Amino acid sequence: MSAQLPEVEVKVPCVEGQEHPVRLRIHDWENWEIVQNPCSELLGHAFGLMSPCSAYVRERGPKLRKAVVEALAQVGSAAVPALREALGDSGWRVREAACWASGEIGDISAVPALREASRDWGVRWAAQEALEQIAARPDRFQRLTDAARRQGVLRPA
Ligand SMILES: [Zn+2]
Repeated sequence: MSAQLPEVEVKVPCVEGQEHPVRLRIHDWENWEIVQNPCSELLGHAFGLMSPCSAYVRERGPKLRKAVVEALAQVGSAAVPALREALGDSGWRVREAACWASGEIGDISAVPALREASRDWGVRWAAQEALEQIAARPDRFQRLTDAARRQGVLRPA
């Protein structure tokens, strides 16, 4: 498994009702770093920090947290640890999006956190769907048998 931190690009509001993308590096669910912000490139780091887009990221509102979760779904397995934490987010829409994202990625290491989430009334349906999605992945059985062969549990094909 890659130790590289996942990065996502999300659209954020800025001056005069304009939106633009920023790139975030997700250290963990509580700790994001802006790695690319066009306002900082344009205005310099100090002024960039004062721009509305930077303030929006610092605020970490539920809409942004949900957008980050949805972008993490495209990242794949490297996003699974952050998504596990997002399953405990205070916003149920964020938790729901984290269920969908985990199901979409289909990484089996998300299963314990999704089982936990399936006891959460707000998102239990989404969590169960995600668990079914992970279980139904066509490559799941193949990957399990490959792993068993590597470990000598099964004979080589
Ligand atoms: Zn901006």
